[in-house]
Amino acid sequence: MVATCWNFSALLLRRRLGAALRVLLGLSLLWLGNASALAANAPYTLTQIQAERLEIDSLAAISVKKTLEEIETRIAAVNDDPARLAGLYLLKAHRLIHSGQAAIDENLAKALPLINQEQHPEQYLHAMTIQAYGLYMYQNRAAEAVVLLEQVQQHPALQNDFYVRVISLGNLLEAYYLLKQYDKISKPLFMLIKTLSAKDVEPVYKNFFPDIEEELAYHSGQIGDIKQALVLSNKIIERTKLKNHTDNLAITNCNIANWYFLPLAEKFQYAKASLAVSNNVPCADVMEKLVLLEQVQQGDLTNIARLQQFNPAQQMPILNERSAYYAGLAYLHLNDLAAAQQMLNRLTDPNNWERYDLLQQLAAKQGDYQAAYAASQQYHQLRAQKDADARALMLGSYQTRLELAQEDTKAAEQAKQAEQLAAAEQKAQARLNLMLTVIAAGGVVTLVLVLYLYRSRRFQQKLQQLSDTDPLTGLLNRRAFMRQAEQLKLLAQRQQFPLSVVLIDLDFFKQINDQHGHQAGDAVLCAFADAAKATLRQTDVVARFGGEEFILMTSQQHADALASLLQRLQQCFQQMCLQDGEIGFSVSFSAGTAALNMQQEHNDPQAIEDAIRQADEQLYRAKGNGRQQVCMADICVPLMTMA
Ligand code: GH3
Ligand code: MG
Ligand code: MG
Repeated sequence: MVATCWNFSALLLRRRLGAALRVLLGLSLLWLGNASALAANAPYTLTQIQAERLEIDSLAAISVKKTLEEIETRIAAVNDDPARLAGLYLLKAHRLIHSGQAAIDENLAKALPLINQEQHPEQYLHAMTIQAYGLYMYQNRAAEAVVLLEQVQQHPALQNDFYVRVISLGNLLEAYYLLKQYDKISKPLFMLIKTLSAKDVEPVYKNFFPDIEEELAYHSGQIGDIKQALVLSNKIIERTKLKNHTDNLAITNCNIANWYFLPLAEKFQYAKASLAVSNNVPCADVMEKLVLLEQVQQGDLTNIARLQQFNPAQQMPILNERSAYYAGLAYLHLNDLAAAQQMLNRLTDPNNWERYDLLQQLAAKQGDYQAAYAASQQYHQLRAQKDADARALMLGSYQTRLELAQEDTKAAEQAKQAEQLAAAEQKAQARLNLMLTVIAAGGVVTLVLVLYLYRSRRFQQKLQQLSDTDPLTGLLNRRAFMRQAEQLKLLAQRQQFPLSVVLIDLDFFKQINDQHGHQAGDAVLCAFADAAKATLRQTDVVARFGGEEFILMTSQQHADALASLLQRLQQCFQQMCLQDGEIGFSVSFSAGTAALNMQQEHNDPQAIEDAIRQADEQLYRAKGNGRQQVCMADICVPLMTMA
């Protein structure tokens, strides 16, 4: 058996967890009271198992004896319900774990055959947790306990039972301490703390919270951070005093008194405080021997007879070794070397530094300096090892806390990133939706607009066309002529080509109307338009100037060319009239021309008006000359019709 103060503290850790559960879960009693009543008919559910466990744990705060009696009464009353019976035997085993391997074996032997692993894997895990405790605490089989407890940790059903989860994790920690696998401790420890402080811990288990301080206090003691350990422990002591839990108060003081790093002189006050409230806890012998050692050192020999007396019910070698160590130190102080030797004989663990401490001092007093030297070497080696272990544990603890903090930060960062990503995606989606909506709306608007523009343009074009066109002949009207003539004039100025204005007036038109009717007159007007379209060049601008008057702007300026143009027009017009069913007779026209003066200001509208006026004068001359001719500045030329 590995017997150091570590083992002892581990035991206390075990007790702390149990005690905290017992003490703090009383509130659930009311609801839980129904659990046992239900049990008679239907098989026990996990919820009922957990409820009965908490119910009994709350009784334990009053008295261990009372708890055991209560469990026995319930066991006797169970009527064919293996799950409930198994649960009660497990509770009994758990309640008696400090009483030795036999109690564990006896109750597990009764519980295990009743456990249906399929139905209640949590019960099986609870049983394994208790069995593992027996392995490392009483049988020096911590390595096997670790294997078992690590399996328990891996089991998915462990998540269903918070109680078993916490105690199994606590047990695993203890086993690691025993095996000095310090590198493995920090992780389960801080995981345990995380578990206990997790937000989703059920209200009835919230009372585990004080245990976090106890775990940390214990850990701080282990790594040599005595200051921190004392701060936390004093909090626990104050809390325990308030609740008047004497056993817990005694154990907490025991824990402090057993810290490896606490100087001997400071241990005494905690030993006295522990004994003052209870001499019934497993560590009571150790505390008593500590108090006796102090008394002896102070010269008070009143109680030295008790140095030889040990509680036979105390089964834990580690506690017995420590009691013997302090008694041995007291005998050395008293120079009772035989009694000291007796005490030394009780220390059998070859890895316990206390054994070599006692040995080196005894050998020195006996004058056996060789033995003292060898023992001292062993003593310092073991102490150095413990210091190194504590340092490793401390570093491991920082390392683990750093890792867990990093994990938390990472998890938080990942959550934040995921959140940001989701937000960004949402935003992008919203933007896309908006864009699609805008595009769709824009599309509709665009379509409407395009249609509108198209239609309005067509309408405008139509309007323009209508307003520019003479409805009867389809030729341009006077206004449109003026506009287009202006454009043509600009072009002519730029490109240096000549322009002439020709005014045409049909001869004796009134007579046509009078003799053939207005409709025939209209037909004649249309025939002239057709003839003009057919004869004139695309670049020439021709329009109905009003009534039976037409106007032409052409790039011809030579008298000959103009004359021949009008000659062709006259002949075409004649042909059209003759061919037309409504007309059937020949019609002539007279024309006057005027050259456009390009030297004048190019955008001066007067230039065209002037030309029109001059052309009109020539037209007047042509009429005066007998009609059917064209008059130009110098000459008038007759416009021949075909025979
Ligand atoms: P002249 O040879 O001197 O030009 O004699 P004219 O009869 O052609 O000239 P006048 O100006 O006296 O007559 C023009 C006639 O044209 C008068 C008018 O009734 C007629 N007229 C004007 N516009 C139209 C039209 O749109 N349709 C028809 N059928 N007749 C029209
Ligand atoms: Mg006229
Ligand atoms: Mg006329």
